[in-house]
Amino acid sequence: MPTLLIRNARCVATFDTHQTELRDASVFVRDKLIEAVGPAAELPQTADDVVDARNHLVIPGLVNTHHHMVQSLTRAVPQVQNAELFSWLRGLYPIWAGLTPEMVFVSHQIAMAELLLSGCSTSSDHLYIYPNGVRLDDSIAAARATGLRFVATRGSMSVGQSLGGLPPDRVVEREDFILKDTQRLIECYHDASFGSMLNVAVAPCSPFSVSQDLMRESAALARTFKVRLHTHLAENDHDLAYTREKFNCTPTEYAQDLGWLGDDVWHAHCVKLDDAGISLFAATRTGVAHCPCSNMRLASGIAPIRKMLDAGVPVALGVDGSASNDGAQMVNEARQALLLARVGRALQAPEKHADGRSFFGCDLGPAEMTARDALILATRGGAQVLGRSDIGHLAPGMCADLALFDLNTLAFAGGAVHDPVGALLLCASPQAAYTIVNGRVVVRQGQLTTVELGPLIERHNALAVQLVASAKA
Ligand code: ZN
Repeated sequence: MPTLLIRNARCVATFDTHQTELRDASVFVRDKLIEAVGPAAELPQTADDVVDARNHLVIPGLVNTHHHMVQSLTRAVPQVQNAELFSWLRGLYPIWAGLTPEMVFVSHQIAMAELLLSGCSTSSDHLYIYPNGVRLDDSIAAARATGLRFVATRGSMSVGQSLGGLPPDRVVEREDFILKDTQRLIECYHDASFGSMLNVAVAPCSPFSVSQDLMRESAALARTFKVRLHTHLAENDHDLAYTREKFNCTPTEYAQDLGWLGDDVWHAHCVKLDDAGISLFAATRTGVAHCPCSNMRLASGIAPIRKMLDAGVPVALGVDGSASNDGAQMVNEARQALLLARVGRALQAPEKHADGRSFFGCDLGPAEMTARDALILATRGGAQVLGRSDIGHLAPGMCADLALFDLNTLAFAGGAVHDPVGALLLCASPQAAYTIVNGRVVVRQGQLTTVELGPLIERHNALAVQLVASAKA
């Protein structure tokens, strides 16, 4: 079995339960698993493949829990650059109606390449629009081509405008077909084994695009096959108002009524989760994919992440791209989670800054979230929310998913010398020097080893132009 040695790293931050951080340390990988992590002097000195990590920070591969990779084709579309969620969706649905299978395959490779180059080793994706013969299989093929560990979610929309939903009727599907196709995908692709490179989850899109029947039947299907459930919830005030008006309840009550709370469920956004909702999420171990860039881009608001964490809600990060971010850089997503949490604290509790203590010499309390907290969301948190015990931290027996960052770069000058882990988020977000997925070096010296980016970007751009032009025609 092939061996891989990450040798003499300046710092290995394991994100294990003790948050162990080691200086001058190595990681020894055999085949697909980590065999040893520890002081360089105590580990093997050679292997089939050796990465000299003297100037590098080593962390677990980052985990992205919410994305719409197909939207890479519609980034920065001028007509929705300044829209909030509902008008953004109304502007984009007619464009997405022109998607083809090739567009899905190419755009997913683009999004996966972007993630891998930012140190992400596992990602989920939520594909919920299936026009013109598009299938989730095209997305799964892209994961195999790029080498990303993947959680493919079979999204869906079934309530069009004529039934009071938001999407145009021509982009929704029949519910019986949705359920049949979802079962096909689970039976064909879902691998529940330790170290699995591919999970399938069930993911009706949102309260304003699917029926309650489909939500209930999707939950039943997922539980029959023991796969996870994913959807959007409580994203902004309009979403909240829709749920109140149409179903006369809060988003959490909506989820509870439909069987959508539990440790096998994760909801994207939850910006507007109230205190009762947070308690219920915590009690049921329901997961949250926090998407700070998207929440800022669409002016949705600031999710109460500190409250969720304090209550015990499992929280992870999602880039939620690619047209509401409009990027898929996981280190930057963690950085934005850190920064947004501090803005939220300043806005929501200014009195905490002036609670009788002197302004001079006191801690003004930005530790609403630390760099290490944000990285926990991006690693262990992601693993937990996706129901994976085999990824998310570095320890013997875990999958060999790692990200390495070169600390001898301009961005880290004067930062990494003090604290390489803190610098990763506080300094400008770097690209990964190496990304290792399942023991395979997928990014080496900053370059993807699995797909050739130049021709891929060229084809992607041609398809993006074609897609937007077809909607105007
Ligand atoms: Zn989303």
